[in-house]
Amino acid sequence: MADIIQLLPDHVANQIAAGEVVQRPASVVKELLENSIDAGADVIKLIIKDAGKTLIQIIDNGKGMSTTDARLSFERHATSKIRSAEDLFSLNTKGFRGEALASIAAIAHVEMKTKQEQDELGTLLEIEGSGIKNQDVTVTPKGTSIAVKHLFFNIPARRNFLKSNNVELRHIIDEFHRVALAHPDIAFVMFHNGSENFNLPVSNYRQRIVNIFGGKTNEKLVPVEEETEVLKISGFVGKPEFAKRTKSEQFFFVNNRFIKSPYLNHAINSAYEGLIKDGSHPNYFLNLTVDPKTIDINIHPTKTEIKFDDEHTLYAILRSSVKHSLGQFNIAPVLDFNRDNNLDTPYDYKDKNASTPRVEVDQSFNPFQEERARAKSGFSASSYKKEPAAQWESLYVGLESKGTKTESDFSEVEFESNPENKSLFTEGKQVETGQATYQLHNKYIISTIKSGMIILDQHRAHQRVLYEGFLKHLTVKEAVSQQLLFPLTLEFSSTEMEHLKSLKDDLERTGFVFSLFKDDSIEITGVPINVPESEVSIILEQLISDVEQEVPDSNFSATDLLAKSMSKSLAIKTGQSLAQQEQEHLVNSLFACKEPSVSPTNRVTFITMSVDDFDKKFM
Ligand code: ADP
Ligand code: MG
Repeated sequence: MADIIQLLPDHVANQIAAGEVVQRPASVVKELLENSIDAGADVIKLIIKDAGKTLIQIIDNGKGMSTTDARLSFERHATSKIRSAEDLFSLNTKGFRGEALASIAAIAHVEMKTKQEQDELGTLLEIEGSGIKNQDVTVTPKGTSIAVKHLFFNIPARRNFLKSNNVELRHIIDEFHRVALAHPDIAFVMFHNGSENFNLPVSNYRQRIVNIFGGKTNEKLVPVEEETEVLKISGFVGKPEFAKRTKSEQFFFVNNRFIKSPYLNHAINSAYEGLIKDGSHPNYFLNLTVDPKTIDINIHPTKTEIKFDDEHTLYAILRSSVKHSLGQFNIAPVLDFNRDNNLDTPYDYKDKNASTPRVEVDQSFNPFQEERARAKSGFSASSYKKEPAAQWESLYVGLESKGTKTESDFSEVEFESNPENKSLFTEGKQVETGQATYQLHNKYIISTIKSGMIILDQHRAHQRVLYEGFLKHLTVKEAVSQQLLFPLTLEFSSTEMEHLKSLKDDLERTGFVFSLFKDDSIEITGVPINVPESEVSIILEQLISDVEQEVPDSNFSATDLLAKSMSKSLAIKTGQSLAQQEQEHLVNSLFACKEPSVSPTNRVTFITMSVDDFDKKFM
């Protein structure tokens, strides 16, 4: 038989490699920014159109290339940065694979202008899908300008796979932040669709962080400095009280390269143990300097992962230096000029004895008397609709159709006075005393049903109830909002604002009313009914963090994500004690849901134990 193996032509090989190196416009931004830094530039300009889908251009004042180098730079495995395998162990540059330009040129239209200092004229190159279309001499300043147009023009599947402009732009900004944070000694400017998004002059590290994340960041930063034989640490961690729901301000750089390391992140979290609430994340901007020999960054072409020779030691050093810095900050508050004076005890009160506050209880108060009326007007965080208890058991056994319920059914029937109640709960003492549910460990609600017993996870069950409520309002667009007495202003970083902008319409559909939507803050004048004002910032932070973890790709899933996120924020927490009636309402509301058996994130909401199950256990 004839031989059948052939070497792939270069342009095909390049296109395949491109799949790994260039996932989205942001990958191009990263590669080009890094090349400019490797070329020794100290001013770098990034110009983006339509979130990079139309244009990504980077202009630097680095060392430029000769004509031959310019042509060679687009060949695969063409690099000026390493010569032999040994060089891999003493890397001082960002690039080394010689893959980026070849990959980008394989899947886009690229125009490069470049000139070295000593040359009078520069080189112009135009490349489309790996083929050189034009080469010329050109008048251009020292340095290199690369314009990447029509990304993925020859891979429609990839192009269609790109997310909305908001999402793609966010990825670009993330990459831009990472590179800009690693190099405060380089000036960066970024334009999107003609307007300047960032203008970062050469500065020190603290100033760079503040220039990117806003003036308010300054007071949050606690310096961390440590130098040992194996590792040098410098940078800042956030004061514990500024810990966020999102991980958007967590940055590790190793030898000026942004990396992700769950392991080192854990070291930092453990340094904050006891200082921040569960579910919130410390901010950090930390630069680690290690001997290049002791790391291996060759694991993945996009190079955010890294292998260290001695991870355990790094972990221990990192943890203790962060702890040390936090400790210094805590024991020496007087030295901290940024401290908020309002938090200190005013002088007048210093020597006075505090008296025990008295709590008066109105024994006859029944919070549920009014609740019914309110429950009718919309979904609620703290109240549940009342409805015949029989409904839910029948739903659960699946014997009766659930389509016949009406809103008025729910509100007219009192749980206690429900005649069907008696047939639902086993005849006996419980029903006579009205005790149909029991809360276990402030976590589970236990209720008896004909066949035995049912156990609800209160947090998950309530999430389901709220989620369906939100979804309904998001899709039928009739949410009720409550007007705030004073507008609420909340500040966000520019990345966070990008998330919020993309969800603005959906948020409005749940009942949020925004009076201002600026680049770094929003002003809220109305919130969904039953969302307490104090929870608003927590809800939005949670939302941002959820979007970050699961990028919504269509309108529908953005809506869904919003409903999920808000129900997570507002649901009754584990550990919260519930009054008898609240427990009963939770049970009823859950079984009035379309899908009572799972939480919005697909976790089991309740389990049942039948009398048979018990009998078996007692055998
Ligand atoms: P790598 O960065 O891994 O070497 P690239 O494909 O990104 O691979 O770049 C190939 C080569 O092109 C680089 O090694 C460098 O010599 C040259 N080059 C790329 N971008 C620039 C630039 N902005 N200024 C000067 N030289 C550049
Ligand atoms: Mg490169």
